[in-house]
Amino acid sequence: MNWREIKTRVTNGMQRFMYGRHGIDELTLSILAISLIVAFAATMFRQPWLQLTYYVGVVGALYRTLSKNLFRRRRENQLFLERTRSLRSWYRVQKRIVQERKTHRHFKCPACKQRLRVPVGKGKITITCSKCGEKFSRKS
Ligand SMILES: [Zn+2]
Repeated sequence: MNWREIKTRVTNGMQRFMYGRHGIDELTLSILAISLIVAFAATMFRQPWLQLTYYVGVVGALYRTLSKNLFRRRRENQLFLERTRSLRSWYRVQKRIVQERKTHRHFKCPACKQRLRVPVGKGKITITCSKCGEKFSRKS
């Protein structure tokens, strides 16, 4: 048996094993990430009992991944996504601000709090809010 055959067999076996199981979703990935952070903090602050959280997280993540109760797992994930929507959109905005820091600056409209994006390096400019029409000046 050559390497290619072994690879195909393992892949097929995995697929057969995972058939009808929930697999990995956003909630599971978040559980794993939080568990890792807690484990790291536990090591940093020498709190061995906190390491337990890590094992609970890993077991929970494994349970969700292998679960055959697709309906419940999907509903849990859906609920998780709904509850974290504002946090996730905040994170997306922060990421974009960092990515575009060399080309654009972001300002909030003083009247309606709408986030506005202007090109960088144009000096002092008057910004007109695209949502409410408020005019204000900022240094770009
Ligand atoms: Zn506005």
